Amino acid sequence: MRTRITVIDNADRVEGLRLAAKVRKTLEKIISVEIDPENFLPGVHRDEQSRAYFEFKTQNSDQVAKVLNNNGYTSCVEVKEVREPVGQGCQNCGNVVGPTLPTICPNCGFRDISACPVCHTEVSRQNYQRIDSNLFHCPQCHSQVRLRFNEPMFFGDGMYNQPLVVVIQE
Ligand SMILES: [Zn+2]
Ligand SMILES: [Zn+2]
Repeated sequence: MRTRITVIDNADRVEGLRLAAKVRKTLEKIISVEIDPENFLPGVHRDEQSRAYFEFKTQNSDQVAKVLNNNGYTSCVEVKEVREPVGQGCQNCGNVVGPTLPTICPNCGFRDISACPVCHTEVSRQNYQRIDSNLFHCPQCHSQVRLRFNEPMFFGDGMYNQPLVVVIQE
């Protein structure tokens, strides 16, 4: 189990990241000793609502609450326990939203996968149901689709060709 601290206000994107880094730094003395190498998310990330957050493991949530309170952070952050495994990061910037990879990264705007070509729903590539090799079912409309990497995968300047994964109607 990990503890996730999220900056509630995301009106100013840069300020949100800055505040998350500051809170993390304040807590460092308590949390750095309890890193779980098996399931650990380093650094500051953005969730599906684009709010800055970070995670750590602690046996001492009372002490964390106390430090947050003493530094006046209680009203700016949300503290929550997370049990799900650490999710996959954005191919472009490494941002981890949560257990499910989004179709578009809230941090850098990178499109990981195109929408379903049949029902136009935004479906994470983790949520297509595999039938065989690259043949899948859309979980929304149940159409058969093929998933393949975009070609070329990179441009000459090393940037990814978006979307990384293309969904094709069968
Ligand atoms: Zn990204
Ligand atoms: Zn569909």
